[in-house]
Amino acid sequence: MVGLNADWSVTDVKLDVAEKMLRLTVEYVGQGVVCPDCGTSCAMKDHAAERSWRHLDAMQFQTILTARVPRSHCNECGVKTIAVPWSGKHSRFTLLFEAFAIEVLLAASSIQSAAELLRIDWSTAQEIMKRAVERGLQRRSLEDVRHVGIDEKSFGKGQDYVSVMTDLDASSSGSESGSHHRVSQSVVEYTVGVAAEEDSGCLHGHVAGLRVQHRGECSKSTDRA
Ligand SMILES: [Zn+2]
Repeated sequence: MVGLNADWSVTDVKLDVAEKMLRLTVEYVGQGVVCPDCGTSCAMKDHAAERSWRHLDAMQFQTILTARVPRSHCNECGVKTIAVPWSGKHSRFTLLFEAFAIEVLLAASSIQSAAELLRIDWSTAQEIMKRAVERGLQRRSLEDVRHVGIDEKSFGKGQDYVSVMTDLDASSSGSESGSHHRVSQSVVEYTVGVAAEEDSGCLHGHVAGLRVQHRGECSKSTDRA
């Protein structure tokens, strides 16, 4: 449910009714550790300081996962905190929470309303979208993509924008349901949280080194790559 593997075990569950929090403590029970940089099995050095990750709410209680993550002692890379199966490298949220947050962001009328539903702030919502893009790009090779469609999507009153990049060749073939699936996957994979600079009125985003910039009055014109 949390995304633990056999190396991790839940050692404590506390329900804090006053704070409406469910706190799970997990501990590493695996044999040995793997260097997060080079993947070599190595000795455990010690445990890093306690960290917490927000997980999916349970019965409207915020669920917080807490752990002290082991640090590996690699001959090549030195001392590193190992990767955990439930979360990305620098995230304060579990992968399941982030996946749910993306669904809420896609369904909501604005980033702000999604952030309120998720009880996170606007910039955190942006970070979650950015990490979803990075994960999508890691999963998918861009070498086969020949034609890229760039579109701009506005939410609500048009104060929040995202740039959506689509593989045109892949999205123009296949059944209707298939292409719908691809489009929503593309939105998850390629949606870039675009920072709107209020004074200049300019929007820009980055996708895998490709810089997308909309100049001028933030019109809804479509750029083509
Ligand atoms: Zn290493």
